[in-house]
Parts: sequence; C-alpha cells; structure tokens
Amino acid sequence: MAREYPFYCAGEWRTSSDRLEIRNPYNDELVGVTYNATDQDLEDAIVAAQRAFEVTRKLQGYERAEILQRMADGLRKRQEEIARLIAMEAGKPIRDARVEAARGVFTLQTAVEEAKRIGGETIPLDLMPYSQGRFGITRRFPIGPIAGISPFNFPLNLALHKIAPAIASGNTIVLKPPSRDPLTMLTFAEIVEEAGVPKGAVSIMPMDRKVGDRLVTDDRFKLLTFTGSPDVGWDLKARAGKKKVVLELGGNAGVVVDRTANLDVAVPRIRVGAFAYAGQVCISVQRVYVHRSRWDEFVERFLAEVRQMKMGDPLDESTDLGPMIDDKAARRTQDWVESAVAEGAKMLIGGKAEGRFFQPTVLVDVPKTSFVCSREAFAPLVNLWPFDDFEEALAEVNDSVYGLQAGVFTSSLEHALRAFEVLEVGGVIINDVPTFRVDHMPYGGVKDSGLSREGLRYAIEDMTEPRLLVFNRV
Ligand code: NAD
Repeated sequence: MAREYPFYCAGEWRTSSDRLEIRNPYNDELVGVTYNATDQDLEDAIVAAQRAFEVTRKLQGYERAEILQRMADGLRKRQEEIARLIAMEAGKPIRDARVEAARGVFTLQTAVEEAKRIGGETIPLDLMPYSQGRFGITRRFPIGPIAGISPFNFPLNLALHKIAPAIASGNTIVLKPPSRDPLTMLTFAEIVEEAGVPKGAVSIMPMDRKVGDRLVTDDRFKLLTFTGSPDVGWDLKARAGKKKVVLELGGNAGVVVDRTANLDVAVPRIRVGAFAYAGQVCISVQRVYVHRSRWDEFVERFLAEVRQMKMGDPLDESTDLGPMIDDKAARRTQDWVESAVAEGAKMLIGGKAEGRFFQPTVLVDVPKTSFVCSREAFAPLVNLWPFDDFEEALAEVNDSVYGLQAGVFTSSLEHALRAFEVLEVGGVIINDVPTFRVDHMPYGGVKDSGLSREGLRYAIEDMTEPRLLVFNRV
C-alpha cells in the first residue's frame, strides 16, 4: 500500500476527493498518494495566514531564529529519507538528491542567522535649513501573507527558499508545491509542525491551476514569489494586481572557454553543468563558446567525458543521468533535436529518447534560431560553438532573451573583469559553470529570466518594507 500524504492547511492535516497519485518517473511505481486542496481549503489557509501574521509579526528575533533552528535540525535528522523521496518522485539521481537535501539544511541554517540581522539604517536629515536637527532611522517590517509557488526540479530546496526567509522575517506563507513531486514538501510539513511554527503561519498544499490562481489574484497576499518557467511566470505577474512579485525563471545559460582556459577544470565542470539532473536545472549549461585554438582538444575531451556517463535507476549510487520528469518532456526534447538537425545542426553524440530517458546530446553548427539554442531546452543537451574574438563570444552569450548566470573559463584577469562588466546576467561565474550556486548568494535573473533575487537576505528584502522614523532634536 502506497503511503498517504495529507496536505498541511491552516495548521491541520487534510485530504480531499481530488486524489493525486505520484509515480516514480523511472519505473512508474506508485511513490505515494496525496490530494489537491479545494477552493475552501485555500480560503481557510489564507484566513489562517492572516491571523497567524498577527502572531508572527510580533515574534522576537531570537524566537524566529529558534523556530528555524528546529526546522534545520528536523530536516538534518531526516536528510537521507528525504533524499530518497526526491530520487523516487522527481527521478533525480540519489547523489544529486543528497546534495539537494544537504543544501536544504544549509538554506534553513542560513535563515537562522539572517533572522538575527534584519537591520536598518540611520539617515542624516539635517541637509536643508528647514530640516536642521532632524535625523531618521529605518526598520524593516514584515509585509504580510505571502503566496509561494515552487517548481518540480528542486522540490525541497527551492520551496525552502520561500518558506525560510518568510519565517525569518516574521511573515506567513501559503506554498503550492509542484503537482508532479509534492510529497517531499508534504514530508517537510511534518518538520514545520514539529518545529512549533505558529498555527496557520505555514500551509503547504498541492492544488490544481484553477484553485491555485487565487495565489496570484487574491489581494490578501502581499507578495507572490514564483519559481518556474518564464511563460507561466510573466503571465502570473500580469495578473497579480497590487501585490509585489518575485520571479525566478529559466534560461539558456552560456559558457565561454577562452584561449587561456584550464581545460582540466573546464571540461568536467561543463559536463556536470550540462547534464546534471538530465539538464532540468534553470542554470543548466546550454551554449558553450570555445576559442578556436582550443576547439579540437575541447571537443575531443568533452565527448570522452560524455561517453562515460551512466544512465539508470536514480536510486542506483552509480547513476549519472536519470529519466526526464515525464514522457512529454522527453518527446519535446526529441522534437527539438530533430528540428535542429533538419535545420542544419550536426549531432556529435546522443540525440535519442529511450523511453523517458534522453541520451546526453552534443550538437554543433546549430542555427541560432533553432529552439535547442534560442529557447530554454531544460534537457540533457548542449550546443558548442567556436569563436575567434573574446568580445564576440561575450556578445553571443548576451544574444539571448534570457540572463540568469553565465560562466567564463579563463586565466586572464582582464577577461574575467571584462565579462563581469559586459554580460547581461544576474551572476558571472569565473572558472566554473553558470550552474554554480551556494544558497546564501544573491541569485536571480535579468531580461526574461526573472525579477529580483533570492538567497535568504535578498529574499527578506522583498518580504519586508522599510519604515522610516524621523526624530526632531528639539
Ligand atoms: P512550471 O512553470 O511548469 O511550474 C512551476 C510551478 O508553477 C509548479 O508548482 C506548477 O504547478 C505551477 N503552475 C504552473 N502553471 C500555473 C498557473 N497557471 N497558475 C499557478 N501555478 C502554476 O515550471 P516547472 O516545469 O515546474 O519547472 C521548470 C521551470 O522552472 C524551468 O523553466 C526552470 O528554468 C525554472 N526554474 C527556475 C529557477 C530559478 O531559480 N530561476 C529554479 C528552478 C527552476
């Protein structure tokens, strides 16, 4: 019998008549059963979040830190169980799933620290004759109930990037986990309850799009924080009314390997950046620009690395590449690769779907307008391009509607600084792939890749409003 996972609504465990079966993308085995929340459940969660906000807004810094510490400790104790659940419901190779669980603990632990240092500033106001004797101070106040929507590819950690800063800043949150792999966060809800979070301050509930639409349109939410695909994200923003909106969306991340790059570092890192979790990562390496003088060596060494990758059961310790999340994703990837080849691209390796698996694929001579280059592939595929001039390579990276992160492999300080100045992205990573992220760093995109930043203290900025107090020294 598959385990049942009720959802966590307004401090209660509930079910509904809308049953959701969650199956392992690797072998279709039933991992667990949960339920979509109804419109009434969401209404109850919103009312509870509003009530709980009257409690959370008054919590002292040490109290918020203690709650988060209990959440971090609770997750640490159940790390392996949760990693296995991620592997089973998301099809993520277990080694990567363990990294995600460890990152989840780090995210919570960082939130413990950030809860203690939400400060403000002192502002001199004696700058005009009429304002002499005055000075101001600011303090950040929580804004009120938050709506969070998280994606399937990091079912734990990207949801924690919403819940942890919300608690750290004295807010309340209703989180909709992804419908494809909600069980991880429903398990985390047990940790929330045990940590002594005020009743109703955190609700975690799957819901269909019709019910979920109120997370977007209901004005009782003061912020919508969404991580997911660009089309959905921008559409939600257009309908979000007066609330603030944070969008963490996708991209087609580019990497430059210049004349001076250390290929011993670049080749294995680009292999990981392109194929980790079957490329279903928002900052997955999709376009690689290699200086012509290093091209032959790079291509040969890169293909040798790719050939060694092992596809298989996500629970098998030796698996590098698991299945894609569903049949639709594998079919779309196959269509895009076939179109690119029809348009003139050459396949160096891979290119075929095997059931839900997609072979690690490397393409060259890809027309820039082909979807495998111009759109977010979100698949285990990468296209390689030679270049002659470093400036031209930077321009190519920028020639995208997206701008999340970019990587540059170089031994030249000048090139590193130039890339930092020129690349239109949220983060420039020198001598590593754009896929690099540690959870306390400011993370987010420009252009179609999103709005604002996450990374605990940066998320807290959006979840709070500065209020000014002016003193007149009379
Ligand atoms: P998705 O947009 O299909 O879904 C994301 C979430 O939104 C899910 O919970 C989904 O159920 C929900 N959703 C979808 N349509 C909705 C609607 N109309 N109203 C309310 N909720 C809705 O994305 P996905 O397939 O789960 O995730 C992959 C995408 O997420 C990729 O584009 C990837 O780049 C992006 N992503 C971005 C980041 C980042 O931090 N920038 C991180 C991970 C993933």
